[in-house]
Amino acid sequence: MQIYWTKINKIIEETPEVKTYMLDCPQDFTWEEGAHTHFALEGFNAGEKPNRGLIRHMSISTLPNEESIGITTRIKEQCSEFKAILRGLKVGDQVALFKTRSNVPLKREDKNVYLLSSGVGLATFRPLVLEYFERADNINHMHSLNVDSSKDYLFTTIFESAPDKNFTSQFVDNRKDYYEEVKNLATDKDGHFYIVGSDEFLVQNIEVLREQGIKPEQIMLDKHEQTLPDFLSLEVSI
Ligand SMILES: Cc1cc2nc3c(=O)[nH]c(=O)nc-3n(C[C@H](O)[C@H](O)[C@H](O)COP(=O)(O)OP(=O)(O)OC[C@H]3O[C@@H](n4cnc5c(N)ncnc54)[C@H](O)[C@@H]3O)c2cc1C
Repeated sequence: MQIYWTKINKIIEETPEVKTYMLDCPQDFTWEEGAHTHFALEGFNAGEKPNRGLIRHMSISTLPNEESIGITTRIKEQCSEFKAILRGLKVGDQVALFKTRSNVPLKREDKNVYLLSSGVGLATFRPLVLEYFERADNINHMHSLNVDSSKDYLFTTIFESAPDKNFTSQFVDNRKDYYEEVKNLATDKDGHFYIVGSDEFLVQNIEVLREQGIKPEQIMLDKHEQTLPDFLSLEVSI
């Protein structure tokens, strides 16, 4: 396994609680839109076994042509040891990345694409939207729906409806409005539905989509192939 040590080159305050850590891109490090990585703090591999407390899965919120690896995360006042250490890091400090892969690259199958996310889950979709803006081939329309109870919505200059680009974006601040809207979107029986959020959020979205007649193969999750059936073979009462 290759471990890439790299440096923080910029810290962006996206909202009062959300920061993006921009990392230098090691020479042979590359990724696809929708990728996630293992993001580790100094000392994670100092002992005999890796210290899991110093490692988190994180999506990469940038595209390779932005020339920095973006890691976007929420750090609340009450937070884990991992986030507390991260909060204290500065430009020039080192972090490590390893095992990077994308389970949710953009599907170009002449369909509408729906991006459903909660909170900072929107970070996973930022590169998908940028990739679509760069090349819209074989995608009819893209729509993003994000629920964030903090109301401090993320990446609002990118996630802004643009009729000329066949892109629409919606933010809501509560789950009731969110699921009403998911039901509306699911009237498109032929779309591709990407979902990013906690496992509980995934399960609830899948339930709503399946009840509306959306098939498992139309639903994309940031999960390894082996764990997909745990989510997508859930029984639903249609
Ligand atoms: C494929 C994949 C991609 C992911 N991508 C991202 C990503 O891009 N960005 C991202 O942020 N996360 C991402 N995650 C989730 C990430 O790995 C972490 O699980 C998540 O950020 C929570 O981090 P944490 O465990 O350090 O907890 P925290 O974020 O610190 O805490 C989680 C919750 O517990 C509360 N809490 C924690 N510790 C305490 C305490 N001591 N006292 C009181 N309350 C406490 C916090 O207030 C918070 O509400 C991804 C996960 C996967 C599987």
